Amino acid sequence: MNIDFNKMNHLVPAIVQDALSGKVLMQGFMNEEALAKTQESGMVTFFSRSKNRLWTKGETSGNFMELVSVTVDCDGDSILIKANPRGPVCHTGADTCFFEENASKTGFIDQLRSIIKDRKNNPNDSSYTASLFARGINKIAQKVGEEAVEIVIEAKDDNKALFLGEAADLLFHYLVLLEAKNYELDEVMEVLMERHKK
Ligand code: AMP
Ligand code: ZN
Ligand code: ZN
Ligand code: ZN
Repeated sequence: MNIDFNKMNHLVPAIVQDALSGKVLMQGFMNEEALAKTQESGMVTFFSRSKNRLWTKGETSGNFMELVSVTVDCDGDSILIKANPRGPVCHTGADTCFFEENASKTGFIDQLRSIIKDRKNNPNDSSYTASLFARGINKIAQKVGEEAVEIVIEAKDDNKALFLGEAADLLFHYLVLLEAKNYELDEVMEVLMERHKK
């Protein structure tokens, strides 16, 4: 789909979404030049109606938004930009212009998985995770079983902190087991998504 900028009075709304978290970061307007500059420079650039000129987001603050993709909508009258922000997007200092935090807490799972992988490949004496790998797959699987029993016990009570602690233990040891087996979490997700289709 192409945009007929003439038909749009030369300005088209551009919605910027964080390429990783999926959060809507901000909305601005682009004319043909702003879109071209965004694609050439790789930094999201708008036409600012208040400044009455091209405005590259981050040009004074340094909080640029690095372009990942441009998608024109179904009828060619708005643009979806996916980007990686280098800092807070809103001029108020907030993560997004819509009062949301732009931190995906579940995204931390991937960070944790890479730390677990590193402990497997570069073990050190003080690492509990490395000691798990050293004890082998059967031991790790047994730990998952123990943590599962512990969460069963906590599920019977109303102690939130203890329950969440066991939930975290179970998730952590589960991730360690996947890594010990050399399987990716994505492979588990594929199984779940396949079942979801049915
Ligand atoms: P920046 O582009 O981040 O260097 O900010 C320069 C100026 O652009 C700020 O002082 C604001 O006037 C304006 N500005 C920055 N971020 C936004 C935003 N998310 N939405 C609207 N205007 C903004
Ligand atoms: Zn549309
Ligand atoms: Zn804002
Ligand atoms: Zn536990």
